[in-house]
This record gives sequence, structure tokens and C-alpha cells, in this order.
Amino acid sequence: MSLIVQKFGGSSVSDAEGIKRVATRIVDTQAAGNQVVVVVSAMGDSTDELLDLAEQVTLYPEELSPEADGLVSSAREMDMLLSAGERISMALLAMAIHRRGASAQSFTGSQAGMFTDSIHGRARIIDVSPHRIRTAIEKGDVAIVAGFQGMSRDSKDITTLGRGGSDTTAVALAAALGADVCEIYTDVDGVYTADPRVVPAARKIDLISSEEMLELAASGAKILHLRCVEYARRFGVPLHVRSSFSHNEGTWVIPDPDTSITIQEGEPLEQPIISGVAHDRSEAKVTVIGVPDIPGKAAEIFNIMAGAHANIDMIVQNISTHGSGRTDISFTLPIVDGKEALAALKAAQSAVGFESIEYNEHIGKLSLIGAGMRSNPGVSARFFKALSDTGVNIDLISTSEIRISVVTAEDKLDAAVRAVHHAFDLDAGSKATVYGGTGR
Ligand code: ADP
Ligand code: ASP
Ligand code: MG
Repeated sequence: MSLIVQKFGGSSVSDAEGIKRVATRIVDTQAAGNQVVVVVSAMGDSTDELLDLAEQVTLYPEELSPEADGLVSSAREMDMLLSAGERISMALLAMAIHRRGASAQSFTGSQAGMFTDSIHGRARIIDVSPHRIRTAIEKGDVAIVAGFQGMSRDSKDITTLGRGGSDTTAVALAAALGADVCEIYTDVDGVYTADPRVVPAARKIDLISSEEMLELAASGAKILHLRCVEYARRFGVPLHVRSSFSHNEGTWVIPDPDTSITIQEGEPLEQPIISGVAHDRSEAKVTVIGVPDIPGKAAEIFNIMAGAHANIDMIVQNISTHGSGRTDISFTLPIVDGKEALAALKAAQSAVGFESIEYNEHIGKLSLIGAGMRSNPGVSARFFKALSDTGVNIDLISTSEIRISVVTAEDKLDAAVRAVHHAFDLDAGSKATVYGGTGR
């Protein structure tokens, strides 16, 4: 008997029909002789809708400004609010399973033993004690767990893990329960060489190393939550990303070079040079202009950013204009961190001694990823030629051993992704299927 953790994303349970379809799939998996633990996300775009509502009730009249205290206590309430989305889908899913003659119990994150730290909105898992889940599956029930949420071990308050965090709940449970596999069900047939919503000619990847999957997820491919890939790699959990709308084999993310894989006749012995192209619209660019070009200034700026909890991504320091003794420093950060970061920088303007700040949310990041880059010269040349042939201007560049990323204007991003995908011969002959979801 296998123990399978199945995670269903919001697009798979967006309406009653979706919930019924998923319930049938779960019951079938159990009937085939498996123990099944399910992790479910909030229905469709309901997390975004709850966020929109929260924004509406906290819009301040012009004459009032938000008090710092108010912001801190709202973070707790925001997690209370958002965690409700998953409670709705888990209970409905349990009812649909009952209707199909199987027994199921749903559990909130805290009932399932997901303990986290106390950072609301981006809590980290510190302990998983799934006693109730184990008891439920030993009794023959399907255990359904609300994704994306936990409970702070210190404050006992409800926390959430950050957007897309249900993937991480699933892997954490799979690791704690010693599951045989963690299946991530979504609205496409697996991990593709690019987002099929942007590149219809994207190709499904059958097998990807966790190293490459980490870079794809970190570069914005939202098919998997970054921390889920890190967690799976750390605990050796095999991940199978697949569609809940089809029975097609999906993509296997293998924890590390897997020696047990047998190469079929006719299959290439070497991995392809490039595994995919990722894009990200969730970052903004900050340029700090006229920073005194003396030791310690970059440290001061990034210390302020750390204090504002901003997750800095790419950084570029320009050479100082001749004779001015001043330089510009540009960096990117998540748009959601932008407000707090800007306020903190402005407050420190005279202490640091810079002249002004520019802030731009209309940027996009494009990344080319492939483990074969290490040993294949010419990848950068081909990459930049594809961008220049498409008339894309590059703002910032950063690289790792297996990735090249650039920042472009947001309205050029889609064309740039398609051009790079094409330039590396990744285009498939057929069109990728997107079964559902709104892409929000
Ligand atoms: P879920 O609701 O199942 O959590 P998400 O919307 O979080 O689904 O993730 C699935 C979406 O990820 C796909 O619909 C697709 O648009 C997007 N995506 C981005 N990059 C990729 C990629 N490389 N391969 C497949 N899908 C991708
Ligand atoms: N419902 C949450 C979100 O939309 C968590 C998830 O879907 O993974 O981010
Ligand atoms: Mg997701």
C-alpha cells in the first residue's frame, strides 16, 4: 500500500464541478489501494478576492494616514482572513467525497500540526506533527488538509506561508508522513519549458532536476512554490507535477541526479543545455541616485532594506560619473515589499546622503535556465542576440552558474520570452493545453 499526498491548486477546485471532479479522482486513488492525504488551496481566485476586499476596507480617507500599530495588528487579521479560503474548499471537498461513498475528514493547518514562526504573511514551517492525519488515514479516511496555513508555535495565532504556499504544505506533510510521492495537481500537464500562457509552443518537460526546478521557481515560474522545491530537495520527496483535468503523466522533479533512471534506447545521454525560460512581473526596480561613492554606502542602503524586510533580488551599481564622487545603485524587489522599502529609504535620505530615488513597477524579469550552461560556451551570445533581434532593451543583468536573468520594460516581456524560447530551439510542434485557471 502506498501513501500518496495529492495537492490540488485553486484552479482545480474553482467551482462545484471542479470539486466534484477532484473528489472522484481522490476516491479512485484510494480505491486503487492507497492511503491518501489531500492538500487543497482556496477555490479559484478567492485568495485574490479576499485581498481585494481587505484593501477596500482599509482604504484610508485622505486626511488619515495608517498608524504603524494598525499595520502590525492587521497582518494578524489578514492571515485570519486568507486562511478562511482554504477552510471553505477543504470542507466542500470532504462533503463531495462523502457523497461518493468514501469517508474523509478535513483539518485546518493547525489541526494538522503545521507549526510555524510568527511572521504573518510569510511564515516559515518549524515543525510538522501530523498525529491526527496519521490516525485518520490509518482508520481508512481520506485526510484533507487546508494548504498555505499554520499556527505560530509562540503566539498560537494563525499564520500563512506566502502566496502559492499550499505546494509547500503538501511537501512538508509528505516529508513528515514519509509519503511515497507528492503529487501537485494543477491546470497544465506539468512543468513546461516556459509558461504555456505566454508561449503556446512551450514543451512539457518529463523529468527535471531539483537544481533546475529551483532556479525556474526562483525566477518566477509560479507552477511550483520555491520553498516547496527546496523542501522536497532537502527531504528527498519525489514530486510529480500534473494536471487534475487529464490523466497524462506529468513532470517528475527528482531530488538530485538520480542514478536509478534507466536511459531508453534512442534517448540522448546528455541533458539538454537549456531547461526553460521563466518570467516574472512581480518585481519593481528601485534606483538610488547620487549615492556618495565611498566605502560603506551600499552596506547602509541594504541594511535599511533588510530592516524593511525587503527581499532584494538583482543589484547593479553604476560607475560614478567622472569627478562627481557620486554613483547610482539600482536593485529589484517584490512589488509587495515596495511601499515599506521606499518609506524606509526616504526616511534615511539625509543620513545616507543620496540625492533622490526612482521607483518603477512596470518592469519584467526574464530568465534562461539550464544546467548545461556550465559547460557550453555561446549561450549568452545567443541569448542577447535573440533579445536584440526583438528590439528589447536591457535594464539590468544578473547570472548564476545555470541562469542568465535580465530586466526589461514590462510591455516587452512576453515578446522577449517567446524570442528567447525560439532561439534555443525549445518550441514544440504542437500547442500546449491550458485546462483552466485565469492566470491571475
Ligand atoms: P494552482 O492553482 O494549481 O496552484 P498556479 O496558477 O499556481 O496553479 O500555477 C499553474 C500556472 O503556472 C499555469 O497555469 C501556468 O500559467 C503557470 N506557469 C508559469 N511557468 C510555468 C511553467 N514553466 N510550466 C508550467 N506552468 C507554468
Ligand atoms: N490560496 C493561496 C494563494 O492563492 C495558496 C495557494 O494557492 O497555494 O496564494
Ligand atoms: Mg500555485
